Amino acid sequence: MTAVAPDWAGLAASVQFPTDLLVDGAWVAGAGRHEVVSPIDGRVVADVAFASAADVDRAVSSARTAFEDRRWAGMAPMDRKDVLVRWAHLVTEHADQLAVLHALEMGKPAREAKAIDMRAVHRTLRWYGEALDKVLDEMPKVGESSWAMIEREPAGVVGAITPWNFPLTLATWKIAPALAVGCSMVLKPAENSPLSALYLAQLGLAAGLPEGVLNVVNGTGAEAGHALASHPDVDVITFTGSTATGRAIMTAAAQSNLKRSWLELGGKGANIVFPDADLDKAAATAAWSVFYNAGQMCSAGSRLLVHESVKDEVLAKVLEVAAQMQPANPLQDDAPIGSIASARQLDTVHRIVTDGLADSGELLTGGAPVLTETGGSYYPPTVVDAVRPDSVLAQREVFGPVLAVTTFGSDDEALRLANGTPYGLASAVWTNDLTRARRVSKGLRMGVVWVNCYEEGDLTVPFGGVKQSGFGSDKSLHAMDKFTDLKTTWIELNA
Ligand code: NAD
Repeated sequence: MTAVAPDWAGLAASVQFPTDLLVDGAWVAGAGRHEVVSPIDGRVVADVAFASAADVDRAVSSARTAFEDRRWAGMAPMDRKDVLVRWAHLVTEHADQLAVLHALEMGKPAREAKAIDMRAVHRTLRWYGEALDKVLDEMPKVGESSWAMIEREPAGVVGAITPWNFPLTLATWKIAPALAVGCSMVLKPAENSPLSALYLAQLGLAAGLPEGVLNVVNGTGAEAGHALASHPDVDVITFTGSTATGRAIMTAAAQSNLKRSWLELGGKGANIVFPDADLDKAAATAAWSVFYNAGQMCSAGSRLLVHESVKDEVLAKVLEVAAQMQPANPLQDDAPIGSIASARQLDTVHRIVTDGLADSGELLTGGAPVLTETGGSYYPPTVVDAVRPDSVLAQREVFGPVLAVTTFGSDDEALRLANGTPYGLASAVWTNDLTRARRVSKGLRMGVVWVNCYEEGDLTVPFGGVKQSGFGSDKSLHAMDKFTDLKTTWIELNA
């Protein structure tokens, strides 16, 4: 029996969600208000509270009090685990509502948000809940007259600043490990995607998260985000977003209290296709890797580096996939891709394409907004051939469904091109030659390398970049270290 698709449009019209700030377990009005405009059709879908620096300060004090009185960190680990696991199950129970909020606030197809994002959020909360009492402290051998203990202590109050492209997946990659180790938090979601974050926090309270342990402050980056990054009582700031904002956050952290900062930033991923690869699979996956989520992925395969001898064959398949992945209203269950997340982002994408084409390359498909009569922000899969490696489209992150194609003649040239941007997040190597696969993947300066696949992952493995893509990976047990202090206690014995 095939499952009947939910009535996404009906749910979009009726879904209820909080719109205030969450401070100390209570929904409170902020200093300002802000209209959330849907990129589906340009209509206002909500009017939410927006935090001032003073609101952020209240949220930080609430997190500080919750941390100091140990209402969460001091709870039995099994009980903390139960809260996170209960929360995970609530996310699954409310997956339709959360998915439709993603569609409304940032234009992702609701079907996909449910199948991919809500599944990821559920698994992340559950995985860290299950992991939290399995990461042990250490007791090294230091001789018989002393004990030394190395304990993992929660780092304190964590500020998390997140983007809109995977609003809950990326937020949960920070919330789950930080809460698992016993920290308290203040989350600032992106200005255009606060709705799902507020709904998620509401489910956290229902799961038994004590008041003040997770606070949510919707607001602008310049005011609420900056207030959090520069707050003297925040111990750790964890961020996903653009490289430019990452730089501002690290500066604010350094100039305030030297808080630890973890940055997941932009990327300019490449699919490197060698002639001996399964070309059909390589081409189809390369196209999918940059058109999926309308290309709004830090890890998007936004460059196709293809051996000159197979370019025509690979490009033909890429164009076939581009034709199939045309944007549509994300509330349609069969929408291949949805809209761009906002009118502002649509402008950015189109401006970079226009500047890029003026610099180098030949437009093969796409290249201008579509479905403009809807009032929404839609951009089609766009493929630009013969892009010069030092030009705009080969170097700048577009964060839209735009593929830059460049050919290479040798393995060394492919590596040089792939590594030739300031970014170092993710790339893929396509070859059936194991030695080449190993040599090229080893030579890539990237946090993540895929061989004959793209976007594969699991909670057990880290995800994050090097170079100007940032540092301090999300996911895996390593993410718990980011929110943990190592404390040594030395005890002299009268032995
Ligand atoms: P952005 O940097 O503009 O915004 C991200 C967040 O930072 C938002 O919440 C925003 O309000 C906040 N912010 C903005 N200015 C700030 C400031 N001065 N101080 C503190 N906070 C501030 O990025 P975006 O446009 O929302 O997201 C797209 C970018 O995110 C892309 O560059 C993309 O590559 C990157 N990204 C990276 C990853 C990753 O895991 N590496 C994942 C997703 C997105």
